[in-house]
Amino acid sequence: MTDDTATPRRWSPRTLAAQALGHIDEASRAVVPPIHLATTYLRDPDNRYRSGNVYGRPDNPTVREAEAVIAALEGASEALVLGSGMSAATAVFLALSPGDHVVAPKVMYWSLRNWLMTEATRWGLAVDLVDMADLGALRAAIRPGATTLVWVETPANPLWPVTDIAAAAEIAHAAGAALAVDSTCATPMLTRPLEHGADIVMHAATKYLAGHSDVVAGALATRSHGPLWDRVKKNRSALGQILGPLEAFLLIRGMRTLPLRVAAASASAMALAERFSAHPAVAEVLYPGLASHPQHAVARRQMAGGFGGMLSIRVKGGERAAIGTAARVGLWKRATSLGGVESLIEHRASIEGEGTPCPPDLLRLSTGIEDPEDLFADLDRALRAANG
Ligand code: PLP
Repeated sequence: MTDDTATPRRWSPRTLAAQALGHIDEASRAVVPPIHLATTYLRDPDNRYRSGNVYGRPDNPTVREAEAVIAALEGASEALVLGSGMSAATAVFLALSPGDHVVAPKVMYWSLRNWLMTEATRWGLAVDLVDMADLGALRAAIRPGATTLVWVETPANPLWPVTDIAAAAEIAHAAGAALAVDSTCATPMLTRPLEHGADIVMHAATKYLAGHSDVVAGALATRSHGPLWDRVKKNRSALGQILGPLEAFLLIRGMRTLPLRVAAASASAMALAERFSAHPAVAEVLYPGLASHPQHAVARRQMAGGFGGMLSIRVKGGERAAIGTAARVGLWKRATSLGGVESLIEHRASIEGEGTPCPPDLLRLSTGIEDPEDLFADLDRALRAANG
């Protein structure tokens, strides 16, 4: 008799993650995958490579383990890990052809937006930025016959608008374009974009997937194979954009606790969003989990099990009070990045610079897994002191 619960096919995402698919190293019987550092592999006497391993630039066995976990968590047919989130995102745009038109959000990860408006256009891509929460604006920006890619980030840095992935996919596909989703902040624990019709999902794996602020990594996962994905794959192999095996190992280790970390961070972020909404020094809280969020209904439909660990607050006293608040925290760490176990606070407008859609009174909060009471007390004290 076969026990179906013993097959990874039947496991829940939490189980898949905890056991990193349950793979056992055949040679050693180790329950933790070995780190394969070799850059080259022995050819069989008949000149073939039956092991499937040839050379370290196109792929690597430890990297393949990380990719298998990500593909399983996203429900993807294949995943690729790359050297950073930016290298994953740009790999998709660089697989397009000169003259192609892409539509991307006005509110999105700042460095990628910057790259799109400067370097990508030098490569011959035409780029339009729209309010992705406004599906009419997306529809109007599509250039039939020219638009080949719609790029979405949801929830999006640092104002946290939510895009309806299924609706965006329908609009993109009707025009013959692909839909790619930066799902870094939702993680596969809360949203699986491929199930909503996206073609490619991207992660800055540096953030929640790795989860401990000690690995820079990126990931792409695809629903199906096609010319765009094939070019991404070919370029990763040719250009050496692959993640190193040590980092791939750390990424696998981090993903084992992804469901627990995301659940804890989401619950704390929700509690903090509610409490800071009523705070005398806070003008506004931006968080998809709040009923007051303009796309809360979409978020409820699209995000299962929580609304993520990211939120922003707008400080009543303006820019000076916002920077003053960040200066006075102790437990929250004043640092860029997000998605780690430790909570981070950042005055985002300072780092994004001119042209940012981020207001100067905004502080971005990446909620970690500490006790939410401690997180509230620390920021409450800093807000009162900076606004006093
Ligand atoms: N996408 C999002 C949403 C991000 O927050 C980041 C980094 O902050 C990136 C992409 C880029 O990732 P990386 O820093 O690993 O290149």
